[in-house]
Amino acid sequence: MALLGYIYKGRKPVHWSPSSGTALAEAELVYPEGHISRSIYAIFKVVGVKTSLLEEFRHNMCLAVWTTTPWTIPANAAVAVNAKLQYSVIEVQSSSEDESASTGNKKKMVGKVLKNQQKLFVIVATDLVPTLEAKWGVKLIIAKTFLGSDLEGFSLGPVVVGGDYITTESGTGLVHTAPGHGQEDYTTGLKYGLPIFAPVDDGGNFTEEAGQFSGLSVLGEGNSAVVSYLDENMSLVMEESYAHKYPYDWRTKEPTIFRATEQWFASVEGFRKATMEAIDNVKWIPHQAVNRITAMTSSRSDWCISRQRAWGVPIPVFYHVQTKEPLMNEETINHVKSIISQKGSDAWWYMSVEDLLPEKYRDKAADYEKGTDTMDVWFDSGSSWAGVLGKREDLTFPADLYLEGTDQHRGWFQSSLLTSIATKGKAPYSAVITHGFVLDDKGMKMSKSAGNVVNPRMVIEGGKDSKEAPAYGADVIRLWVSSVDYTGDVLVGPQILRQMSDIYRKLRGTLRYLLGNLHDWRVDNAVPYQDLPIIDQHALFQLENVVKNIKECYENYQFFKIFQIIQRFTIVDLSNFYFDIAKDRLYTGGTSSFTRRSCQTVLATHLLSILRVIAPIVPHLAEDVWQNLPFEYRNEDGSAAKFVFELKWPTLNEQWLSFPAEDILFWERLLELRTEVNKVLELARNGKLIGSSLEAKVYLHTADAGMASKLLQMCEAKNEADTLQRIFITSQVEVLSSMEKEMVSSVQHTGEYVAGENKVWIGVSRAEGSKCERCWNYSGQVGSFSDHPTLCGRCFSVIVASPPQPVVAAVVS
Ligand SMILES: [Zn+2]
Repeated sequence: MALLGYIYKGRKPVHWSPSSGTALAEAELVYPEGHISRSIYAIFKVVGVKTSLLEEFRHNMCLAVWTTTPWTIPANAAVAVNAKLQYSVIEVQSSSEDESASTGNKKKMVGKVLKNQQKLFVIVATDLVPTLEAKWGVKLIIAKTFLGSDLEGFSLGPVVVGGDYITTESGTGLVHTAPGHGQEDYTTGLKYGLPIFAPVDDGGNFTEEAGQFSGLSVLGEGNSAVVSYLDENMSLVMEESYAHKYPYDWRTKEPTIFRATEQWFASVEGFRKATMEAIDNVKWIPHQAVNRITAMTSSRSDWCISRQRAWGVPIPVFYHVQTKEPLMNEETINHVKSIISQKGSDAWWYMSVEDLLPEKYRDKAADYEKGTDTMDVWFDSGSSWAGVLGKREDLTFPADLYLEGTDQHRGWFQSSLLTSIATKGKAPYSAVITHGFVLDDKGMKMSKSAGNVVNPRMVIEGGKDSKEAPAYGADVIRLWVSSVDYTGDVLVGPQILRQMSDIYRKLRGTLRYLLGNLHDWRVDNAVPYQDLPIIDQHALFQLENVVKNIKECYENYQFFKIFQIIQRFTIVDLSNFYFDIAKDRLYTGGTSSFTRRSCQTVLATHLLSILRVIAPIVPHLAEDVWQNLPFEYRNEDGSAAKFVFELKWPTLNEQWLSFPAEDILFWERLLELRTEVNKVLELARNGKLIGSSLEAKVYLHTADAGMASKLLQMCEAKNEADTLQRIFITSQVEVLSSMEKEMVSSVQHTGEYVAGENKVWIGVSRAEGSKCERCWNYSGQVGSFSDHPTLCGRCFSVIVASPPQPVVAAVVS
């Protein structure tokens, strides 16, 4: 176990929870709103001056510090300055006025020393003099200015040079340093060989080492006692309440303290470089996440892995009864490991030391006792990859993907990474997805008391009032999940769910249309691709692009894009265009006519593809469709799919994708032209010239010869489905070669389609001829067939070629 090489015991400041009596990791802390600390400005008398620089002030000179934890003053070992900052000796002009004031929860109290008439010289950062003058309510006169480095080695204790954490953003620019009660203080302490003093016990009370404060709670009366003591001794300049982020124990919701205790640590320093390299080889989604994990891993201190909890996985260490020397090596670990793998981790607590020790140490069992510390739970979850990926045959290391909320950069993502790097030298995952949190529809955090919680079960099953809270079913909530950009926080509420339900119903409607129009379909009715009308080839080209794009989105975990693609495709490309036009062919083209069969070929392909690409998001809808498929379908390998998920993912059809580039552009323009034609038809409808668009005839004219010839070709298309009149759903279309004045002025409603430099003039008048009773198209042929005087030419041939079967005959056969 390579990890053992990185584990050591040490006495260092760690987050400590007095309320539950244990060390805590960063990930076990919360920062509730509204914590108020008693912050104080205190002064320490200088007893020894190193340089002659400040000789003149030596009898009355102090260093001023600011702290939000007065209780750490008894553990003060030094005052730290920033070597590069400018400092000043200031003369404090005493004030006899009582400056104590209280406004709201901002309490302010001026110390006795400011009311004293003695001359007082204090050292603070020069930049902060005006701020402090205002805060303390006294006049401060700069007597001398110098650099922080000039102060090094003053004695009060010592003045030491700290790091860049000492700034002039707040406080005095001098930092009281208690190496037993702060991470930065500890590092400074190590550098100067300062004592790591922490006179506080497990319950957060001062120990006897704290003298007169012994027994008092540091977060309560102990804190007050220290403030009073400082004031009595002319060392308190001012006290004021200070609101800031302060760490609380997430379990007990009580404040924590920072305190040096004996703990087990994993030396992150030992494998930090390998960790940083591994981070670069992982795919982070969204990509910015790499910055968070990098910052958190590069700056983190050694990992405190021991906890003082009554429950948890034990740290398998033995201590010598007399010397307290720990015994933990590969042999003892392996022995305990084999016991725990058989009996579970409780064995550590109920088995004797003798049984827990390997053979070699057994005769010395009486000299040892069991450690009682438990392991950080983040160590447990952080090693889940070993218990899962290493143990299950169908899984491989590293995992394809880890998925959790953004808060896990300092939690699970990091602890998993550290344990895996330490033991395997490799990240336990190839990719990591982080997501935001779900907020209500106004962007507020959900809480029971605010009454804004969206309960997924109620969304699915509905509430008591079915109008207020209808039962949307699981697919609607799944569709919503797919629709949001999960990389940030996401909103949900009744209005959003209602919209989602509408979108779901539209999708369902699309699938119903497909099913309905395929009721008589058999796979061998399919028209070969090369025989399909261009409109159908174009539809397959669009479908194939959609399938291709959706596949890419799934592979990149961009589900909201899939949602957008599907929504746009079903509404714009299918409902508003292809399906709308197809109705004429499907309903009037003749049951087994080429034109209907070619359309059904396209519809069947759409149904099978859409079904498969939406199944992961709306499985119930997809299964519902699959179970009601009106025709038999087999996978390419001949296997039957009993359930939708037994279908293979649609393979891309290169032929469908190879729709000629110039035709792609022409069809894009044609669809835009159709939109403009529809606008003119709308004008004609509003002008009462026509009702249905089939009552209209459309005129087009363009100076663009290429476009004109293509449009003309479409008016005379070989396949009826490709004719412009069908695409516009009008009865006639005429492409005019010139704009004769007489002609143009007789057209009542006109418009224009502009594509770059080219324009197409659009005119709408009433269709010529009479209305065909069967297809409602207008035609000059209506009335010319004596057997069927109410039919157009097309309907006449359909009726004559395949007369409708008598209903009775169908029943008899
Ligand atoms: Zn007709």
